[in-house]
Amino acid sequence: MKAHSGEVGVFVRIRPTANFSRDIIECLPDGQTVNIHHKKDTRKPLDPRKIQLSSWSFRLEGVLQDVSQEEVYARVCRRVVLGALDGYNGTVMCFGQTGAGKTYTMTGSTESYKHRGITPRALQEVFQEVQKRAEHAFSVYLSYLEIYNETLVDLLSSLQGSAHPSHRSMVISEEPGRGVFIRGLSLHPVHSEEDALNLLFEGDMNRIIGSHALNRNSSRSHCIFTVHIESRSRTLSDAKYVTSKLNLVDLAGSERLGNTGSEGQMLKEAMYINKSLSFLEQAILALADRRRDHVPFRQTKLTHALKDSLGGNCNTVLVANIYGEASQTEETLSTLRFASRMKCV
Ligand code: ADP
Ligand code: MG
Repeated sequence: MKAHSGEVGVFVRIRPTANFSRDIIECLPDGQTVNIHHKKDTRKPLDPRKIQLSSWSFRLEGVLQDVSQEEVYARVCRRVVLGALDGYNGTVMCFGQTGAGKTYTMTGSTESYKHRGITPRALQEVFQEVQKRAEHAFSVYLSYLEIYNETLVDLLSSLQGSAHPSHRSMVISEEPGRGVFIRGLSLHPVHSEEDALNLLFEGDMNRIIGSHALNRNSSRSHCIFTVHIESRSRTLSDAKYVTSKLNLVDLAGSERLGNTGSEGQMLKEAMYINKSLSFLEQAILALADRRRDHVPFRQTKLTHALKDSLGGNCNTVLVANIYGEASQTEETLSTLRFASRMKCV
């Protein structure tokens, strides 16, 4: 499989909710267009003519409504996984306001097999392919990085002895031939799907425990689960190692804070999130110019960590998660605007 050249696949997934209204979110039968209708009540007392109805239309690679976890994986992630096994870096990211379904899409529910998200399904497919592709010898390693207020946290370091996720200092580095790597982030060799799922689970627990211990909301951080793949032909005697990374990213909630009452910790978190999401957008847009030197990757930890896994010779997919309720229309519009700007790349 060939990597897409710099193109970003953009999907929108609509979270089913009790108050979902087709009057607000209208999915067209083409499977690619979603229209948003927003009734804004600007009535001065007793003037019924002042209800404004505005509509917006967004066309993306796919609109995922009432779609199973299995189908989401197949449409969004499979090609990125197969690309990574062929040696192409790839990134799958979920974007959207808190509660819109990012973690459900990436990790899913651990309660039932059917509700597994993209990440456990990707791990399953990686190991199935490793079995099938017997002419190559594969090694697979995992890492799990959390970025909170521009601080890096290793979600898998408790396996090395300490009780809490490590705050040992980590540094994002680059070396020719090796690409971007994070000095100090633990890398774990895994030999089976089961090993890998145990680590994913451990990391997710550490994300929750860590956020409780530090009294913060886990939706305020970005999480990057990375599958590092190394392969070498068994048949060619002088074969080189081919390495690639598959990044599965659960981004921090994109919601804007209300104008009132935001201060201290919440304001700081919002500023960091806002900055990293806006540089993520700038980095992806700048990649369309094909002049990688001009891309502002180093401005935030998120873009720096993903530097060699976005655009260019990489497969990049963005899922915009939206929450189909009237009260959330402003956030829904802002998520869809972000998504459709990415699509142009
Ligand atoms: P986020 O990570 O964006 O804050 P979550 O993934 O935690 O949002 O989703 C919020 C809630 O909605 C969770 O209880 C989750 O299980 C549920 N949910 C989200 N998306 C779906 C979906 N497509 N189908 C069923 N339940 C969903
Ligand atoms: Mg979440």
